[in-house]
Amino acid sequence: MDPTVPAAPRHPSPSAPRRPLVAGNWKMNGTRPLARTLAHAALAAARASLDVDVAVFPPYPLLPYVAEALGSPDGPVALGGQACHADAKGAHTSGVSASMLAEAGCTLVLCGHSEVRTECGQGDEGVRGSAAAALDAGLRPLVCVGETRAERDAGRAREVLERQLDAVVLRLPRGADGIDVAYEPVWAIGTGLTATPAQAGEAHAWLRVRLDAVRGERARILYGGSVAPANIGGFLSVPGVDGVLVGGQSLDPAAFTSLVEAARHAAARRRP
Ligand code: PEP
Repeated sequence: MDPTVPAAPRHPSPSAPRRPLVAGNWKMNGTRPLARTLAHAALAAARASLDVDVAVFPPYPLLPYVAEALGSPDGPVALGGQACHADAKGAHTSGVSASMLAEAGCTLVLCGHSEVRTECGQGDEGVRGSAAAALDAGLRPLVCVGETRAERDAGRAREVLERQLDAVVLRLPRGADGIDVAYEPVWAIGTGLTATPAQAGEAHAWLRVRLDAVRGERARILYGGSVAPANIGGFLSVPGVDGVLVGGQSLDPAAFTSLVEAARHAAARRRP
């Protein structure tokens, strides 16, 4: 692929505000009936909030069912894979390639989610390879970065975030601006604990400076970590928080719908 040609859709104009993204990571959850219910709820929420991008990341075997429920890949809800291998094919038992995800109807993929980093031993180089493979296959990577509790307590949060981001974004082909980033403090994922809006704002500012220097200002930075209807407003009111990556609450159709609605209200407040 020509690295000067962006693999994913560009935003309409460089000066327009970044469109918020509400992304639901279902992790290893869901049955076919639940997948259909969640897909229909996401579609209804997205149709009612046309200023918000909405995406769902189901487990691999549910992708075809969710793709069917969502209809066209150009519809209002984007479909994503939860990870992809750096290689295009080969002897990687349990691996899934980016082109397989694209063939299943995905336009997005998570890269470097902390559960994949921890449970599958994926390091920064693996995350970079996975993001590069995603771009090659025409997918938009959503690159996850985040510090552990011990790293934050040791005053190393900034260093860790910058290392994780640089390892990926500095080494992707220039011009491929079709990526997004999620700041997900590991200690806030699935724990009910969240970063304070001030902590999130500080981390987003660190990431923004570096991201702007190499990828341009169109890349979004989402917050993730125990986001719920009761706390999303606080995050979306922080300058530089361009949306949310949601785990647990994305499995509840009513909660996911209210998260999308909250993003619509935040987008309206941000319009110039
Ligand atoms: C996640 O899985 O990316 C996540 C943020 O999960 P939760 O919302 O459950 O903390």
